[in-house]
Amino acid sequence: MSPPRRPTRLLPVIDPARCTGCGRCVAVCAPHVLCLERQGWEKTALLHDAKGCTGCRLCALRCPFGAIEMRAAPPAVQCLASSSACSPITAATAPAQAR
Ligand code: SF4
Ligand code: SF4
Repeated sequence: MSPPRRPTRLLPVIDPARCTGCGRCVAVCAPHVLCLERQGWEKTALLHDAKGCTGCRLCALRCPFGAIEMRAAPPAVQCLASSSACSPITAATAPAQAR
């Protein structure tokens, strides 16, 4: 009998092309693991602490621009999530959306 599978962690992936930097997702995130990062003249939301993310989806629901998708975390992040390290997730580094 195989051991039970751990549930897949879902983390927010922010599309910088859609993000306006409005900050609504940052405001709604209870554990404060999202921030706004300045990129030139613009700001973009960033998940700065993947370990602290609960996967609650509130940020994705709150974003009025459809800039956040919840996706299965890559194995490296799943591993980091159980350590003290954290890693920002972007649309470029995340895998295709889990179906
Ligand atoms: S709510 Fe959406 S558009 Fe606004 S900062 Fe967050 S990801 Fe960007
Ligand atoms: S899924 Fe929840 S905990 Fe994670 S970044 Fe979004 S609002 Fe914060």
